[in-house]
Amino acid sequence: MASWGSVLITGCSRGIGLQLVKQLSESSSRPADIIATARNPAGSAALLELSRTRPGVHVITLDVCSEQSISSALEEVQSIVGNQGLNCLINNAAVGSSRSLQSVTRETMMKTFEVNTVAPLFVTKAFLPLLQTAAARSAVMGVHRAAVINISSILGSISNCGDSTTFRNYAYGTSKAALNMVSRCLAADLGPVGILCVSLHPGWVKTDMGGAHADLTVEESVSGILSTLSSFTEQDHGGFKDYRGQTLPW
Ligand code: NDP
Repeated sequence: MASWGSVLITGCSRGIGLQLVKQLSESSSRPADIIATARNPAGSAALLELSRTRPGVHVITLDVCSEQSISSALEEVQSIVGNQGLNCLINNAAVGSSRSLQSVTRETMMKTFEVNTVAPLFVTKAFLPLLQTAAARSAVMGVHRAAVINISSILGSISNCGDSTTFRNYAYGTSKAALNMVSRCLAADLGPVGILCVSLHPGWVKTDMGGAHADLTVEESVSGILSTLSSFTEQDHGGFKDYRGQTLPW
C-alpha cells in the first residue's frame, strides 16, 4: 500500500470500522496517524485497546449527526495532522434498518437518511479544508494524497433492484442510493482540487449489521477494501466500486 500521512474513519466502535483501524495499524505501509472516531469510544473496549497498543492510533469522539461533535472533532484532528492536512476520510458509520413496504415508517426513513446520507455530506464539508490542504501538497490523485471514501452498499444500486429482487429495503437502500448521488456530486466538485471521491461496497459482511449468514468475514472484507483503496487512481474517481475493486452498476 502506498504510504499516507493520515486517515480518519467514522464508526470505529465495531464492525468494519474497527477492523479498518486494526488492519491499517498492522500494515507495513500504514498511515502515520490513524484517527479512529466513534460516538461513544468508552463503550468499545476493542477500540480503546487498539489505541493503547498501536502507535499513531488516535481515538476521537464523533457523533456524525451532531454539528457540535463534528466541530470538536475537527479541532482535535487539526491538532493531530497540523499543516500536512488530512489524506483520507472514510465515511463508514451507518445504521442498517431493514424495512419492507409494510413495515417502513416516516421516522425510520428520516433517521436512516440522517445517519447514512446527510451525515457523510456534512462530515465531508467540515473536514474539507484539511483535505484541501493535503491535496495541495501532492499531484497524483489517490488515497495517499486526498480522498473521500463513502462506504455505500449494493443495496443502494437502483439498476440492481429489479423485479427479481425479493427484498426491497426502503430505508437503507434509498439512503445508500442517495449517498451514491452525494458521492457523484462531491466527485464533480472536488475532482478539480485533486480530491478523489468514491462510493465503496464492502461486500456482505458478518457484522452486527450484516448478520451471521453473510458471505465474508470482516477480516476478508477489510483486507479487500484496503488493497482496493490503495490501488485507486484518477480513473476510479467518481466511481461505485466493491471491496475487490470491481465496478458496480448505479
Ligand atoms: P455495524 O452495525 O457493525 O457498525 C456500524 C457503526 O456505525 C458502529 O460503529 C456504530 O456506532 C456507527 N454509528 C452509527 N450511528 C452513528 C453515529 N450517529 N455517529 C457515529 N457512529 C455511528 O455496521 P458495519 O460495520 O457492518 O457497516 C459499516 C459500513 O458498511 C456501513 O456504512 C454499512 O452501511 C456498510 N455496509 C455493510 C454491509 C454488511 O454486510 N455488513 C454491506 C454493505 C454495506 P455505535 O457502536 O455507537 O452504534
